[in-house]
Amino acid sequence: AREWHLIARPQGWPKPEDFALREVPVAEPGEGRILVRNRYFSVDPYMRGRMNDVKSYAPPFELDRPMDGGAVGEVVASNAEGFAVGDEVLHRLGWREYAEVEAAHAAKVDSSVAPLTTYLGVLGMPGLTAYAGLFEVASFKEGDAVFVSGAAGAVGSQVGQMARLRGASRVIGSAGSDEKVRLLTEEYGFDAAFNYKKGPVAEQLKEAAPDGIDVYFDNVGGDHLEAAISSFNVHGRATICGMIAQYNATEPTPAPRNLALVIGKRLRLQGMLVADHNALRPEFVREVSGWLRSGELKYQETVVEGVERGVDAFLGLLRGDNTGKMLVSLDGA
Ligand code: NDP
Repeated sequence: AREWHLIARPQGWPKPEDFALREVPVAEPGEGRILVRNRYFSVDPYMRGRMNDVKSYAPPFELDRPMDGGAVGEVVASNAEGFAVGDEVLHRLGWREYAEVEAAHAAKVDSSVAPLTTYLGVLGMPGLTAYAGLFEVASFKEGDAVFVSGAAGAVGSQVGQMARLRGASRVIGSAGSDEKVRLLTEEYGFDAAFNYKKGPVAEQLKEAAPDGIDVYFDNVGGDHLEAAISSFNVHGRATICGMIAQYNATEPTPAPRNLALVIGKRLRLQGMLVADHNALRPEFVREVSGWLRSGELKYQETVVEGVERGVDAFLGLLRGDNTGKMLVSLDGA
């Protein structure tokens, strides 16, 4: 079976040569473990940080070892109580065709309740990030005007729709193509959206939010954060979720030049890690499942076919090739 190894630490933008797809034997599951045939694995922006050899909230990938990350698949051999051949599971050993997983680190899922892919997306880690980041971290309340960057992505597309469903006065999104901008206003019910590549973010945001914003959900950093600080009303709150605009930077990036506005406007800029919000999961699954069933909440996935295209999928994610959750399908195998 094949698995992806990191073989060199990228400087700036990762290159295909930094990775290798290697053939390895498929192990029988050890005591308390299961063997899973992966059907989908996730590629996520945070993985870029794990390619650097620096201490962070997620440990760095080791060189010449398999990379890992979220995956869903089917149990093909079990040496653990409570797991049988044919069970579907969510686990953390992605980037490979077969995963030998400690059963305690696998969670059963059910593709008859929701499509298998959604456990990596709208009902999984990115969905919970949106839900917790908006409702807990940003203390969203009805009537708030909400701005979200990366708004056509896995997290951002959910943030904007969740804000609308809970009674935001106005929802504004930014994304990197006209097609994505259209999706936001025509399908996802955003009140306004703009293409950040087409003009200064600050000006476009002012135009889209003439009465200012109360919540900013930051997936991007850089000029987006600076623009949000300028557009904030007093007591505005930002969830600092991601700063993808600087993940490939080789030099320190400038801070928002208008940071002093935080004082007079009494702003709150709050970082978040989704792992802190597991207690919210049952409520998240209940409410989001309801919205999905009623059709009020929509989502998209961009599925790249074939383990051999895993790195292409990851590089494409960093470039914005995806709409909604970026996934790699192994089902053709
Ligand atoms: P997305 O599905 O949003 O994919 C990434 C998107 O980022 C691309 O589609 C691209 O869209 C956009 N992008 C890339 N470069 C830039 C740039 N220079 N400026 C603006 N946009 C850019 O990924 P996720 O939804 O999985 O993640 C979104 C953010 O949330 C990331 O920053 C990620 O690190 C963070 N995150 C944080 C978590 C936490 O616990 N703190 C948990 C999960 C995610 P476009 O075409 O619009 O440019």
